[in-house]
Amino acid sequence: MQLRMLMTEIQKEIRALGDLLSVTQNIVLTAHKDPDGDALGSALALWHWLRKRGHTVDIALPSPYPDGFHWLPGLDKTLVSDYDMEEIVQKLKFASVVIYLDFNAMDRIERLSEAFSQTDAQSVMIDHHRDPEPIADIMISDVAASSTCELVFEVMTSLYGDVDLDRNIATCLYTGIITDTGSFKYNIRPQLFIHVSKLLSTGIDSNAIQDLIFNNLDIKFLRLLGLCLTERFILMPEVQTGIFYLTKQDYKEFDIKRGDTEGIINYLLKVKNIKVAAFFRQQPGIIKISLRSKGSISVQQIARELFNGGGHLNASGGYLHGSLRKAITRFQKELPNYLSKYKELKV
Ligand code: 5GP
Ligand code: MN
Repeated sequence: MQLRMLMTEIQKEIRALGDLLSVTQNIVLTAHKDPDGDALGSALALWHWLRKRGHTVDIALPSPYPDGFHWLPGLDKTLVSDYDMEEIVQKLKFASVVIYLDFNAMDRIERLSEAFSQTDAQSVMIDHHRDPEPIADIMISDVAASSTCELVFEVMTSLYGDVDLDRNIATCLYTGIITDTGSFKYNIRPQLFIHVSKLLSTGIDSNAIQDLIFNNLDIKFLRLLGLCLTERFILMPEVQTGIFYLTKQDYKEFDIKRGDTEGIINYLLKVKNIKVAAFFRQQPGIIKISLRSKGSISVQQIARELFNGGGHLNASGGYLHGSLRKAITRFQKELPNYLSKYKELKV
């Protein structure tokens, strides 16, 4: 019953977006800082689709995208606040609609937050993270969706069917679905595969896209992984938790850039007795934290309460100011309290 109500609510919001899009609009899309495959894929898919439907559309990102995604169609047309702030402010001045993708709290777009909040444009959020804040006039929020890309697919097809689907749109949506589900390992539900079959029907090459996403690493990744496995690894067997960390010196020595550490945390969860994984990185200005878990164990509350962050049940993140050592010690001290309620952990 509750799910049915939820679906109706989402459908209502999608219809409200449909009403907005029934006239030609000036649209600015944005996605979260340090955009991943889902953030970029959802923004670019909408960019292609909305343009096809006659709207004027720009994408404004709050931070640069990882080089590894350079092959995504349209990515080179995006505006990035670090380089294009004036143009972004100008575009927002004339925007009639803004769309927030793959985030649900304004601090996730950092320096763009103020610029977006000041527009008179109608705002729309499309997202699948937990605990959304009321940041938009139209809130298309579904925590059961695997990815924002899956939701964007639902928005497109429930408004206009699949007539507009083409290879560019399908490539972008497939990328977000593949990255957020870890190639259909997490957050999957039956309807996702029906959607994916429609994406594949456009003729996109799944093997080629997966190769571009997963088998396209710089050799630096293996070196970093080696460092984490051998020298930056803390095991907490009493709470079945593994921790990796990287120091400021590591960042300098390995010339670590955006996206270079993506995926390293997943290696901790490959160990059968590890149920919770944490990855602390001493980035310029902040300690960035990623958290992952298996099964019903939630890391979202920990991210929210200890690290100013949030995310999903099994994948969350946040940040702290201060020293790396303090951040790790805090996590080690507080973690058992959070895990004590999970019987499968025997904490
Ligand atoms: P990752 O560990 O890959 O950076 O992020 C995992 C998940 O946690 C993503 O869904 C991401 O949106 C969320 N997340 C990561 N960092 C933050 C943060 O600083 N704040 C919030 N609210 N969510 C975050
Ligand atoms: Mn996502």
